Amino acid sequence: MKKHAQAVVIGGGVVGVSVLYHLTKAGWKDVLLIERAELTSGSTWHAAGGMHTVNGDPNVAKLQQYTIQLYQELERISGQSCGVHVTGGIMLAGTQERLDWLKMAQARGRYLGMDLEIISVDEAAKLFPLMDKQHFTGAMYDPIEGHVDPYGVTHAYAKAAEIAGAEVVRRTRVTELKARADGSWDVITEHGSVHAEHVVNAGGLWAREVGRMVGLELPILAMQHQYILTDDIPQLAGRPEQLHCIDFEGEIYLRQERGGMLMGTYERAGAPWSEHTTPWDFGQDLLPNDLERIAPSLEVGFEHFPALGSAGIRKVINGPFTFAPDGNPLIGPIKGLKNFWVACGVMAGFSQGGGVGLALAHWMVDGDPGADIWGMDVARYGAWATLAYTNAKVRENYSRRFRIRFPNEELEAARPLRTTPVYDRLMAENAVFGEYCALEHALWFAPPGVAVRENVTFRRSNAHEHVAAECRTVRNAVGLLEISTYGKFEIDGPGTAEWLARVMANHLPAVDRIGLTPMLNERGKLIGDFTMCRLGENRVFLIGTYAAENYYMRWFERHLPATGVRVRPCATEYVGLSVAGPRARTLLQGLARDDLSNAAFPFLSFKRMDVGMVPALVGRVSFTGDLGYEIWVTSDYQRALYDLLVAAGRAHGMKSVGARALNAMRLEKSFGTWAREYRPIYGPYEAALGRFVDLKKRDFIGRSAAADDKDRGGGVRLVAFSVAAADADASGDEPIWHDGKVVGAVTSGGYGHSAQASIALGYIPSELADADGGFEVEIIGARRAARRLDAAAFDPQGLRMRS
Ligand SMILES: Cc1cc2nc3c(=O)[nH]c(=O)nc-3n(C[C@H](O)[C@H](O)[C@H](O)COP(=O)(O)OP(=O)(O)OC[C@H]3O[C@@H](n4cnc5c(N)ncnc54)[C@H](O)[C@@H]3O)c2cc1C
Repeated sequence: MKKHAQAVVIGGGVVGVSVLYHLTKAGWKDVLLIERAELTSGSTWHAAGGMHTVNGDPNVAKLQQYTIQLYQELERISGQSCGVHVTGGIMLAGTQERLDWLKMAQARGRYLGMDLEIISVDEAAKLFPLMDKQHFTGAMYDPIEGHVDPYGVTHAYAKAAEIAGAEVVRRTRVTELKARADGSWDVITEHGSVHAEHVVNAGGLWAREVGRMVGLELPILAMQHQYILTDDIPQLAGRPEQLHCIDFEGEIYLRQERGGMLMGTYERAGAPWSEHTTPWDFGQDLLPNDLERIAPSLEVGFEHFPALGSAGIRKVINGPFTFAPDGNPLIGPIKGLKNFWVACGVMAGFSQGGGVGLALAHWMVDGDPGADIWGMDVARYGAWATLAYTNAKVRENYSRRFRIRFPNEELEAARPLRTTPVYDRLMAENAVFGEYCALEHALWFAPPGVAVRENVTFRRSNAHEHVAAECRTVRNAVGLLEISTYGKFEIDGPGTAEWLARVMANHLPAVDRIGLTPMLNERGKLIGDFTMCRLGENRVFLIGTYAAENYYMRWFERHLPATGVRVRPCATEYVGLSVAGPRARTLLQGLARDDLSNAAFPFLSFKRMDVGMVPALVGRVSFTGDLGYEIWVTSDYQRALYDLLVAAGRAHGMKSVGARALNAMRLEKSFGTWAREYRPIYGPYEAALGRFVDLKKRDFIGRSAAADDKDRGGGVRLVAFSVAAADADASGDEPIWHDGKVVGAVTSGGYGHSAQASIALGYIPSELADADGGFEVEIIGARRAARRLDAAAFDPQGLRMRS
């Protein structure tokens, strides 16, 4: 084993070898993989090897496409067969809702260049004769699904990496990791140590244990997963290999294995494995079968596919593999740990392993993953994702693997975990709660006598009319909104102004003023959008997206000077309430001694003031697009503030308003939001944020790339549409058509109650950005005419918020 390496990858499962291979491909040849036992000795060896392109997150779907296309390259370079069987795949729907879901998946696939086809039950039965037609309503066909040989794939990656100069060391366990002052690592193993500039935790089933070596508790948990192999099935003899099949209603998947079938299930009552610590002596072992646990799924399977029921069960496989709470991988660098990377929680290694390796290798070598991997970034989890939280969410996710997640659906596990001081006040007002970063927040309020529950649906829900009423409250009188779910940072120290000028694309506002700003990476792409509230020469209250707190902090720490600037996240220390609507000023003025007139406290003012007895930070701004104030207080004051506002608000017709109405109002104002419109693949000019980029500033991160982007106009442009929708609005990821071709995708959508229009925001090619006609948005399988809007659908001149 070498004594020094540019990077050491810990773990020789399919993910570790993929990272190793991609590091060599990206130009790092001095790389070493250390495996405790033989390659594949974790989850990898007993995997069913299935591969799919379809994924709920289009960015993950792209990486899955890449992975599947990679196998040919690996075979060519390594000479090792990956055992690729591209059988094609079929997804069977048993309900209308599932058929709608398939139509939406097909539509999303169009934008990604996937060749998915919706077919009838009869057509499905021709392709997959084992099914009993009576249980199904339709299907989707995907020509590039199939399965691979897990052993072959893992060894092909390893051989290809070795050919490029990498070293693979087997039967050597990493026992300890010691950070050096310069950010490099001593990797201590059973057989000596290696000095590594970078370390990658690809420990799979043991990724938690490897994380603990550096004081990290990764939010992953292994679940037991079972599949059966049947005896030979006579109907298969002499036929071409059967398609890969998912039966959503049965919650099972099937594929042919020699003369029989393999059938696996994600059962509802799934069982975790090694909940706290994974034993090091677990090797190429299987867990004891528990057919009783999966019996309900098997029964459905035997009913839906009768030939399997009459064949005997040849073998049962029960093996563990790991999941993050949302089922997506955890990849990237870790905030606070220099040169330490993770690539774990990969639950579909044979669909995602290639893309994960590619993205991580680019991130390590070029400083940027080169793709939009926000949905897989380890930074999306904060301190709330404890071991017990992870346990509850992973079980839930596992049990829902083949269930539909509706766009308005809130999941129930691990709730309520985090609440703000006004939680019970909102509950007393019949709030229907949602969860964001494990924090409860009000989605909408059920009027007296109305059930406090939202029906899950792809169409407009029972909340529609109540959300409409909340929007009317804001537009006609005044609404009270809790706004605690934003990320907040206190920044101070003598270097604050200079540092923010370098890190943010816009200039700092004057003292007591608010400025909006994008944050860009070196490539000029959006990695954040913030509200900078300047409290003093070198004191700023920064507001951004809470889910990205760790993501931002990782970037801030990377760019902070050694002394002179302090950044402190304070998301739940400061909570907030907002009053918005034409009567907001009169209401608040009745409670504050400061002059709130438009002349004294105009749009984008920010000030420390008392509201009643409550010391607060007040900003004259509102995401509703109306006259409004955001009032930030430390959490001990929030109830008092709430009670004060509610009492004073009665005279002004004030009512509580939830997040659904806020979303509807921001859509009709064409206001974008992080993780939907603003993502690290778009530049600020593409995202219509150009007016918040101050190119006159000499130097800030991403300036030259942004300037180029401005000159060239960027490749795509964010635009808003008014859609001739029926009973369903766009919710995100729907394809945008122009003149019969898919040209873009929706980033978010919904009904704008004040504009009385179904609104969709999305990116289209720049050359079409000024086109007038010919647009359509595909919603649940129907192409709806869409009119591109030149300005926001509501109050296009922005007079109301400035009035
Ligand atoms: C029954 C079953 C069926 C499955 N079916 C499919 C499927 O059809 N399609 C699909 O895509 N996925 C499937 N999977 C999931 C798939 O197996 C995983 O996604 C994949 O194996 C994860 O690979 P990994 O490299 O992250 O982890 P692992 O395979 O667990 O590899 C981690 C490796 O790291 C090594 N290691 C850990 N700690 C150390 C240390 N300290 N020092 C040195 N080495 C260390 C381990 O020995 C191990 O070899 C299935 C899983 C199971 C259990």
